[in-house]
Amino acid sequence: MNFIEPLFRSVSSFRGKQRLVIMLACSLVLVTAMLCFLAYSYFSFNHESRERLGALGDIVGADVGAALAFGDYQAITTSLTAFKSDPSIKQLFVLNEHDQISAYYQQKQAEVPDTVQKQRLKTLRSEVRRPYVVDLSPGVERSVIRDGIRLGTILIEQDERVITQQLAITIVISAVILLLVLGLSYVLANRFQRIISDPVTTMATIMQEVSSTKDYSKRVPASDTDEMNLLAERFNEMLTEIEQRDEDLLERQDQLHHMANYDALTSLPNRALFHDRLEQALHLAARSGEKLAVLFIDLDYFKMVNDTHGHRTGDLLLLETAARLTAGTRASDTLARLGGDEFIVILQDIKTPENALLVARNHIENLYRPYEIEDNRLYVSASIGVALYPEHGATAETLIKNADSAMFLVKETGKNNVELFTQSLHAKLSEQLGLSNDLHRALEQGEFEIYYQPRINLARNSWAGVEALIRWNHPERGLVPPDKFIALAEQNGMILSIGEWVLREACRQLHQWHGQGFHLPRVSVNVSPLQLQRQDLCGIVREALTSNNLCPQALELEIVESAFVDNAGPAIRTLKKLRTSGIKISIDDFGTGYSSLSYLRSLPVDTLKIDRSFLVHAHESAEDRQILAAIIAISHSLGLEVVTEGVELAEQEQILKDHHCQEAQGYYFARPMPANKLLACFENSQMRLEDARIQPVDSTKCSCCILAEGLVVPCGNWPVSCRSTPTGRL
Ligand code: C2E
Ligand code: MG
Ligand code: MG
Repeated sequence: MNFIEPLFRSVSSFRGKQRLVIMLACSLVLVTAMLCFLAYSYFSFNHESRERLGALGDIVGADVGAALAFGDYQAITTSLTAFKSDPSIKQLFVLNEHDQISAYYQQKQAEVPDTVQKQRLKTLRSEVRRPYVVDLSPGVERSVIRDGIRLGTILIEQDERVITQQLAITIVISAVILLLVLGLSYVLANRFQRIISDPVTTMATIMQEVSSTKDYSKRVPASDTDEMNLLAERFNEMLTEIEQRDEDLLERQDQLHHMANYDALTSLPNRALFHDRLEQALHLAARSGEKLAVLFIDLDYFKMVNDTHGHRTGDLLLLETAARLTAGTRASDTLARLGGDEFIVILQDIKTPENALLVARNHIENLYRPYEIEDNRLYVSASIGVALYPEHGATAETLIKNADSAMFLVKETGKNNVELFTQSLHAKLSEQLGLSNDLHRALEQGEFEIYYQPRINLARNSWAGVEALIRWNHPERGLVPPDKFIALAEQNGMILSIGEWVLREACRQLHQWHGQGFHLPRVSVNVSPLQLQRQDLCGIVREALTSNNLCPQALELEIVESAFVDNAGPAIRTLKKLRTSGIKISIDDFGTGYSSLSYLRSLPVDTLKIDRSFLVHAHESAEDRQILAAIIAISHSLGLEVVTEGVELAEQEQILKDHHCQEAQGYYFARPMPANKLLACFENSQMRLEDARIQPVDSTKCSCCILAEGLVVPCGNWPVSCRSTPTGRL
């Protein structure tokens, strides 16, 4: 049976295997049946033949009985000739009562010697008499008995060829029947195996389709076979599960794709997708020779809205902004959000720069309309920078950078406008970059210097103090004013170390002047909002004061309004701490930023420094004078002292005096100057204010101005008595 396994393996299909099983089983059964039948036929033929021979023996015995009795052998031989026509008799012996051959017959008569005949007879006799398990004796033996007397014996040997012939015919017929039956079995097997194999084949076909098309919605139909039905059900369940999993996977893939390419808040393309689209647009433009424009849009005052009204309002505002920008953008163009309040647009097929500027101005107009968000009416504008391809850059990076630079210029020059990138802007920005780099080494190289500008007490016509104003002695550019580098230093974070240096240096200078007999009451130092946010300003101030033996009243910090707009909480806490210790806090450039007089009430401030823009036309414009007077009056009503910057004319000084402004500062009194020059001015009384001398100290009236070492420094309120009794500790 070893051949069956390879045979099975050689057939690959389920149907083939099934057919093979049926055919093998049928063949086995039929061959076995046929063999049994043949065996039976053989025995049956044998038996029948000997039955007949037995009957023949009886007839012969009856025939030759008389002849035997009389010993008429001739008559016996004659009787035997009658059997010549019987092919089943191979040989026949007639023996007398002494078992001697009386006569014999052989199919092929031949002269056989007696001895041979006798031997044949002997063999035949022993064969016939042998006890066979099955009826296979080659012949029969019959006694011839008459009147109870045994006269002789008849011995007949059958001719096996007759049986063999009969058997051969039977085998041929059986073989034909076998073949016919096997053929029929094949046809039936082919037909009936489908009943079992069809559901399996259907399932296999569906599986094949599912695996090639990945269409998991297909299902296997139910079958009438229990096992197949169960299999189909399980398979369908598996498909349902895969389908569900596939759907989940697709959904998750979609989500991931969306997250990777789209902004979560506005659903606009994000920076990554925008970059791709711009690259594509640039390829197309390069091939078709068309122009394209990149609009870099940044909202003005968005941070203020976010900080004042909260992030939810900020988000809603951004959503509304995105909607307005989308409405103003063609379907063929791309609008994206880069992050924060920055949006960017690709305008394809732009014929002239004016077209791009026109689109940008439309956006500006749309964004300028008031926003109604959760019971709030908000006003936000936008600054837009425009860069064109190919004029302003050939790569996505350059175009975005240049559009950003143009936008930056708009921010610097008043916001709410559009600016086209130009090479001169590029030069300006490059210069700024150069300056920014130089700033890093300026402090180490000792290139900074402080100029001091006197602040005058208008009522007493005396020195109220000086403001420390930084200057940069650049090795190549010469003296660089702060307007040129303070903003840069704030951008690159250098303002932290620069501001710290100014604080220490101003305190050291004041201490030095005191030692030189120049008893200046106070020095004012400008503090950047970044210092308030990121530095331990209290620690730095304490260190600067104590290391120079100065009392807190000797220092005033000037803070611009914007410091209270961004993340105001920590800044206010720091200032409160500083103010409680006796350090004066003033709001610098009041009126140029997020001016709110009512907001001032909640701030820890002593003084308001009105920006020079309020004073510059006051001597010629009654309206300006009124505004100035109003600010001074309100500040006084809030308990704040007022200092006005930028006094350049005597008329301006007079106006301030008329409105009881306490202090003033400006070129009219003195320009900012180096420390040694200021001392020389003081000593030589070269200043315009001849009477602006430091008055003798009355220590009994101002205890806060007396330091431990006995060095007496007058405070700003001298000689009137101090209103506060500061703790002197930070
Ligand atoms: P600021 O604090 O408002 O300083 C007053 C500015 O007005 C000074 O300009 C001063 O020279 C100028 N000024 C004074 N009187 C007059 C006048 O009569 N007419 C005109 N046209 N201008 C006058 P400066 O020194 O160029 O400083 C500009 C700004 O740079 C300062 O404005 C201040 O905001 C900033 N700054 C200066 N030094 C520092 C510093 O050490 N740290 C920080 N964070 N900022 C500083
Ligand atoms: Mg200032
Ligand atoms: Mg100022």
